[in-house]
Amino acid sequence: MDALTGLLDRQECLSALARMVESEHQQVRPLCLLWLSIDRFRQINASFGHGAGDNVLAKLAYRLRTTIERPEALLGRIGGDEFIVVLPSHSCNMAEELARALLVAAASPLEVGQVRLRPSISIGIAEMGQDEGPAQALERADRAMYAAKSQGGGRFVHSGEEPITGRFGNPLAREELAIEELLHEALETGGLSLHYQPILTFAGELEALEALMRCEVQGRSLSPGQFIPVAEKTGLIIRLGEWSLLTAAKLAEALLHRGQPTKVAVNISRAQLTAPRFAQVLHAVLACSDVPAHLLELELTESLFMDQSETVRRNLDAALDAGFPLAIDDFGTGYSCLAYLKDLPAKKLKLDRAFVMGLPEDTKSFAIVRTIAHLARELGMMVVAEGVETHQQYQCLQEAGVMAVQGFIFSRAMSEIELDVWLNKRSLACYH
Ligand code: C2E
Ligand code: CA
Ligand code: CA
Repeated sequence: MDALTGLLDRQECLSALARMVESEHQQVRPLCLLWLSIDRFRQINASFGHGAGDNVLAKLAYRLRTTIERPEALLGRIGGDEFIVVLPSHSCNMAEELARALLVAAASPLEVGQVRLRPSISIGIAEMGQDEGPAQALERADRAMYAAKSQGGGRFVHSGEEPITGRFGNPLAREELAIEELLHEALETGGLSLHYQPILTFAGELEALEALMRCEVQGRSLSPGQFIPVAEKTGLIIRLGEWSLLTAAKLAEALLHRGQPTKVAVNISRAQLTAPRFAQVLHAVLACSDVPAHLLELELTESLFMDQSETVRRNLDAALDAGFPLAIDDFGTGYSCLAYLKDLPAKKLKLDRAFVMGLPEDTKSFAIVRTIAHLARELGMMVVAEGVETHQQYQCLQEAGVMAVQGFIFSRAMSEIELDVWLNKRSLACYH
């Protein structure tokens, strides 16, 4: 018995399910499984404490029990915030009706201490096939529940009717949810860090450091290519982005106080710039750190500069008014229009790695780089080439009129400790 909810615990659920399968296996109609999970339960725990979380679990369990009513149905807590309901074959046709009733029962307001919550649940429904074992059917119900969750929760989805959500179908949505969980955990447990990659002029001066986010959690290290898209999809990028602005500002401040004033560049996502509070965040960053705005550069992709929406315009103006330099990131990957460059308030243009990769052999790329570098220079912009790996590329870019380069040729992104060593080496080399 599960002490918190008074329901069957995981082990009892699985044994009872096995017994039901055993006794029903002569039947033509299969058993039906419902997998239930409380939406955003992690946030409830994080915002109101584990006591409140337990309270929600117990109250919801009671609602589930009183809604199901049927003595022949099995209800248990399969783990954490997840429950299963098993309906015997003769009541299987009521699965959908029951799912609807459970959604309604879960959603009525619930008092937790002083707070009034409106919980919601996601439900996956799977009919157990004739040749299927309970484990596979449970797995299908669980997967359907994830599909319900990824559509915003508060709904049910039948197994086999999950929408295709990406190139890899449902497993992708599942993986994304797993990454979302890991990101929440990383935010809470300090698994996030910023690494810094230098951008150097051809004269060897340190033009800036680009801050790039890293995430290590549960012994797993996630690449930005894996977690940034998920963070953008779920809106978590707003919190991650605020964290990276503050962290980068702290580094810029430390370098300034050490007598090595260096610009630190931070990547800004669309979701951040389209949020009305972005301007406030920028002011908060300046208020929380003793760093002048001109040492914090904001990297935005071209399409954001072109965005005509009121909020984006207002946020960009606020950033400029406060004195933050702006850079156009990944230039050349969108529908770049050179004519627009003259109207953009950016001081720096970062040429995407795609133009650098084929150099020196790719004469077309070379021609494009030379033209953009020339134009940007005329417009008073600093032109940086990204992803420079070889000496030949470096020479080619210098010839093309690019002003600074960033890439593995100098250094990968470094942790703060590695950066310290790197900076010390540089100042020693300058001294001698
Ligand atoms: P990006 O802004 O274009 O960052 C440059 C990426 O190129 C980095 O990948 C960097 O490690 C990689 N790179 C640098 N030099 C070389 C090179 O010579 N060769 C190759 N092959 N790659 C090179 P990373 O760190 O994996 O980041 C990937 C992307 O994730 C970034 O692309 C950026 O769009 C996003 N990202 C990273 N950190 C943040 C962040 O804090 N906030 C936001 N919104 N996005 C971030
Ligand atoms: Ca960037
Ligand atoms: Ca870039």
